[in-house]
Amino acid sequence: MSDCLFCKIIDGSIPSTKVYEDDHVYAFTDISPVAKGHTLLIPKHHCKDLFEMPEDVARNLYAAAPKVANAIKAAFNPIGMNTINNNGEAAGQTVFHYHLHFIPRYDEKEGLALNWQTQNYTAEQLVEVAESIKAHL
Ligand code: 5GP
Ligand code: ZN
Repeated sequence: MSDCLFCKIIDGSIPSTKVYEDDHVYAFTDISPVAKGHTLLIPKHHCKDLFEMPEDVARNLYAAAPKVANAIKAAFNPIGMNTINNNGEAAGQTVFHYHLHFIPRYDEKEGLALNWQTQNYTAEQLVEVAESIKAHL
Protein backbone atom coordinates (compact mmCIF):
# COMPACT_ATOMS: atom_id res chain seq x y z
CA MET A 1 0.00 0.00 0.00
CA SER A 2 1.56 3.25 -1.15
CA ASP A 3 0.56 5.34 1.89
CA CYS A 4 1.43 2.72 4.54
CA LEU A 5 4.41 3.47 6.79
CA PHE A 6 5.36 -0.18 7.29
CA CYS A 7 5.00 -1.02 3.56
CA LYS A 8 7.48 1.80 2.98
CA ILE A 9 9.82 0.29 5.57
CA ILE A 10 9.61 -3.06 3.75
CA ASP A 11 10.39 -1.52 0.36
CA GLY A 12 13.22 0.56 1.85
CA SER A 13 11.81 3.99 1.04
CA ILE A 14 11.73 4.67 4.80
CA PRO A 15 14.83 3.53 6.70
CA SER A 16 14.65 0.98 9.50
CA THR A 17 17.02 -1.04 11.64
CA LYS A 18 16.36 -4.50 10.20
CA VAL A 19 17.01 -7.58 12.30
CA TYR A 20 15.50 -10.30 10.07
CA GLU A 21 13.90 -10.75 6.67
CA ASP A 22 12.68 -13.67 4.57
CA ASP A 23 10.30 -13.98 1.61
CA HIS A 24 7.25 -13.35 3.79
CA VAL A 25 8.22 -11.26 6.82
CA TYR A 26 10.36 -8.34 7.95
CA ALA A 27 11.55 -7.61 11.51
CA PHE A 28 13.06 -4.36 12.77
CA THR A 29 13.60 -2.54 16.02
CA ASP A 30 10.86 -0.24 17.29
CA ILE A 31 11.74 3.45 16.92
CA SER A 32 10.44 4.15 20.46
CA PRO A 33 11.40 1.02 22.39
CA VAL A 34 9.80 0.34 25.76
CA ALA A 35 12.70 -2.00 26.60
CA LYS A 36 16.08 -2.89 25.11
CA GLY A 37 15.50 -5.17 22.12
CA HIS A 38 11.85 -4.14 21.50
CA THR A 39 11.31 -5.49 17.98
CA LEU A 40 8.42 -5.51 15.49
CA LEU A 41 7.67 -8.45 13.17
CA ILE A 42 5.46 -7.66 10.17
CA PRO A 43 4.13 -9.57 7.16
CA LYS A 44 5.27 -8.32 3.74
CA HIS A 45 1.68 -8.76 2.58
CA HIS A 46 -0.19 -5.62 3.67
CA CYS A 47 -3.06 -6.34 6.02
CA LYS A 48 -4.42 -3.81 8.46
CA ASP A 49 -4.80 -6.08 11.45
CA LEU A 50 -5.34 -9.66 12.60
CA PHE A 51 -8.97 -9.61 11.45
CA GLU A 52 -7.84 -9.10 7.84
CA MET A 53 -4.92 -11.53 7.89
CA PRO A 54 -5.14 -14.53 5.53
CA GLU A 55 -4.21 -17.91 7.06
CA ASP A 56 -1.09 -18.40 4.94
CA VAL A 57 0.18 -14.96 5.96
CA ALA A 58 -0.40 -15.86 9.62
CA ARG A 59 1.39 -19.19 9.17
CA ASN A 60 4.45 -17.53 7.63
CA LEU A 61 4.47 -14.76 10.21
CA TYR A 62 4.34 -17.06 13.21
CA ALA A 63 6.90 -19.41 11.65
CA ALA A 64 9.40 -16.57 12.07
CA ALA A 65 8.31 -15.58 15.59
CA PRO A 66 10.41 -18.09 17.59
CA LYS A 67 13.51 -17.13 15.58
CA VAL A 68 13.06 -13.45 16.41
CA ALA A 69 12.23 -14.16 20.07
CA ASN A 70 15.24 -16.44 20.52
CA ALA A 71 17.59 -13.97 18.84
CA ILE A 72 16.48 -11.22 21.25
CA LYS A 73 16.83 -13.66 24.14
CA ALA A 74 20.35 -14.67 23.05
CA ALA A 75 21.38 -11.03 22.56
CA PHE A 76 20.14 -9.54 25.83
CA ASN A 77 19.28 -12.42 28.18
CA PRO A 78 15.90 -11.06 29.34
CA ILE A 79 14.09 -12.85 32.15
CA GLY A 80 10.87 -12.94 30.08
CA MET A 81 9.20 -11.57 26.96
CA ASN A 82 5.74 -10.38 25.94
CA THR A 83 4.55 -10.69 22.35
CA ILE A 84 1.71 -8.25 21.79
CA ASN A 85 -0.42 -7.28 18.81
CA ASN A 86 -2.84 -4.35 19.01
CA ASN A 87 -5.86 -4.45 16.70
CA GLY A 88 -7.88 -1.28 16.31
CA GLU A 89 -7.48 2.17 17.83
CA ALA A 90 -9.39 1.10 20.94
CA ALA A 91 -6.75 -1.57 21.52
CA GLY A 92 -3.89 0.92 21.11
CA GLN A 93 -3.06 0.32 17.44
CA THR A 94 -1.39 3.37 15.87
CA VAL A 95 0.12 1.90 12.69
CA PHE A 96 -2.43 0.12 10.52
CA HIS A 97 -0.22 -2.58 9.02
CA TYR A 98 -0.31 -5.67 11.26
CA HIS A 99 2.70 -5.95 13.57
CA LEU A 100 3.70 -8.23 16.43
CA HIS A 101 5.66 -6.55 19.23
CA PHE A 102 8.43 -8.51 20.97
CA ILE A 103 9.03 -6.82 24.31
CA PRO A 104 11.76 -8.30 26.49
CA ARG A 105 11.30 -8.08 30.26
CA TYR A 106 14.22 -7.36 32.53
CA ASP A 107 12.62 -6.49 35.84
CA GLU A 108 9.25 -5.46 37.24
CA LYS A 109 9.84 -1.71 37.13
CA GLU A 110 10.89 -0.98 33.57
CA GLY A 111 9.33 -1.46 30.16
CA LEU A 112 5.81 -2.65 29.56
CA ALA A 113 3.19 -2.08 32.27
CA LEU A 114 0.33 -4.55 32.09
CA ASN A 115 -2.74 -4.12 34.23
CA TRP A 116 -5.10 -7.08 33.83
CA GLN A 117 -8.35 -6.36 35.62
CA THR A 118 -10.10 -9.68 35.87
CA GLN A 119 -13.87 -10.01 35.96
CA ASN A 120 -15.97 -12.60 37.74
CA TYR A 121 -17.81 -15.00 35.41
CA THR A 122 -19.81 -18.01 36.52
CA ALA A 123 -19.18 -21.39 34.89
CA GLU A 124 -22.48 -20.99 33.01
CA GLN A 125 -21.46 -17.57 31.71
CA LEU A 126 -18.12 -18.94 30.54
CA VAL A 127 -19.96 -21.67 28.60
CA GLU A 128 -22.29 -19.08 27.09
CA VAL A 129 -19.37 -16.94 25.96
CA ALA A 130 -17.58 -19.94 24.44
CA GLU A 131 -20.75 -21.01 22.60
CA SER A 132 -21.16 -17.49 21.16
CA ILE A 133 -17.64 -17.60 19.73
CA LYS A 134 -17.92 -21.20 18.51
CA ALA A 135 -21.02 -20.30 16.54
CA HIS A 136 -18.81 -18.26 14.20
CA LEU A 137 -16.02 -20.81 13.68
P1 5GP B 1 1.03 0.04 17.78
O1 5GP B 1 0.74 1.12 18.78
O2 5GP B 1 0.33 0.29 16.45
O3 5GP B 1 0.78 -1.35 18.31
O4 5GP B 1 2.59 0.10 17.53
C1 5GP B 1 3.20 0.87 16.56
C2 5GP B 1 4.67 0.88 16.89
O5 5GP B 1 5.37 1.33 15.76
C3 5GP B 1 5.02 1.81 18.04
O6 5GP B 1 5.65 1.06 19.08
C4 5GP B 1 5.95 2.83 17.41
O7 5GP B 1 7.00 3.22 18.25
C5 5GP B 1 6.45 2.10 16.17
N1 5GP B 1 6.79 2.97 15.07
C6 5GP B 1 6.03 4.00 14.59
N2 5GP B 1 6.65 4.58 13.54
C7 5GP B 1 7.82 3.91 13.37
C8 5GP B 1 8.89 4.07 12.44
O8 5GP B 1 8.91 4.91 11.55
N3 5GP B 1 9.92 3.18 12.55
C9 5GP B 1 9.95 2.21 13.51
N4 5GP B 1 11.02 1.42 13.56
N5 5GP B 1 8.96 2.05 14.40
C10 5GP B 1 7.89 2.89 14.32
ZN1 ZN C 1 1.34 -1.81 4.77
